[in-house]
Amino acid sequence: MEMLKNEIPVEEETVLISEDAKAGLVLVDITNGFCTVGAGNLAPREENKQILEMIEESVKVAKVFCEKKWPVLAFLDSHQPGKLEHPYPPHCINGTDESNLVPSLRWIEDEPNVTIRHKDCYDGFVGSIQEDGSNTFVDWVKKNKIKLLVVVGICTDICVLDFVCSTISAKNHGLLHPLEDVVVYSKACATFDFPAPEAAGSKQLQAHPQELMHHIGLYMAKGRGAKIATQLTFHH
Ligand SMILES: [Zn+2]
Repeated sequence: MEMLKNEIPVEEETVLISEDAKAGLVLVDITNGFCTVGAGNLAPREENKQILEMIEESVKVAKVFCEKKWPVLAFLDSHQPGKLEHPYPPHCINGTDESNLVPSLRWIEDEPNVTIRHKDCYDGFVGSIQEDGSNTFVDWVKKNKIKLLVVVGICTDICVLDFVCSTISAKNHGLLHPLEDVVVYSKACATFDFPAPEAAGSKQLQAHPQELMHHIGLYMAKGRGAKIATQLTFHH
């Protein structure tokens, strides 16, 4: 593990967010189905330190954004019953508690600055495409004139990464004006743990050691041009 981290180090930084930064926060899939012990096929089977810290930090950041009335967009993974997301087993079925925010974040549903977007695919950018071709996320960035986007949630190497990659490509393609910076706050991200010995017995899922995959997710995001923050500092 340490050897791999030395081979692909991720340079992290403290990101300063000033009052006039025009910041927006995206919460990716902080649902029971991915975070609450025993809640479903893809939920942790026992208490998980990385996931608990991710929730705790996400709640803290969400509180700051809501106090300041800054825009927040929460993606919630929600699938139609019977419509599988290969290679994963059924999870976060529409209308079940699995696709709800974790208990410590449900309060954001009543906040006027919060937009909730249900999505049925990994990538929140793609999941924001509506039937008429418009994009909820793109419209949200433009309407709020967001320049700095903070991304947190689960999984660092799957839904967080996919969203960050698409967002940066869309920004580079000129679709997200005035967005300038995409910041992944590492302490408020987590992924699931499926160690190699367990995966050896599974035909469907590949091994997914948590700490390593979290690190790789951050590394890949950084490679697209995202900033990786160990700390967010809010400046008055
Ligand atoms: Zn899903």
